Amino acid sequence: MIKIPTKVLLVDDEKDFIEMLSLRLKEVGEKITVAYSGQEALDTLEKDNIDVVILDIKMPGMDGIETLREIKKQFPLVEVIMLTGHGSTETAVEGMKLGAFDYLMKPADFDDLTLKLEGARKRKDEQEERIRKAEAKLLVRKSGGIFS
Ligand SMILES: [Mg+2]
Repeated sequence: MIKIPTKVLLVDDEKDFIEMLSLRLKEVGEKITVAYSGQEALDTLEKDNIDVVILDIKMPGMDGIETLREIKKQFPLVEVIMLTGHGSTETAVEGMKLGAFDYLMKPADFDDLTLKLEGARKRKDEQEERIRKAEAKLLVRKSGGIFS
């Protein structure tokens, strides 16, 4: 079976961490874009078609939670997995209440990460499918079809 790559945006101010993770995710066939700040992440989402954002909570300037709020406001269908350090589980829970799909504790276990990535991608695909179906129904209704 041919794997359709998930378009992932990695957001973290730690360049080494991002480069390492980027390499490993590319190895398993994902399509990776990176951003080093919240603002850069938003700019990237504006121009690239992204499925899932892996978002560091602790960043200088616009932090992860603030970035998450903006992502969910401007790109509600994009799924977000948060990366947290020790002691920021509360922030992770807050993030999930704001619409994040899940969170990972740093240093993230790679298998755990790919599993969560798969789950996030699945949720996005299913939501898009529901929207397509709703739109199709709406079209039928508007054209005076079987539902009128
Ligand atoms: Mg950081």
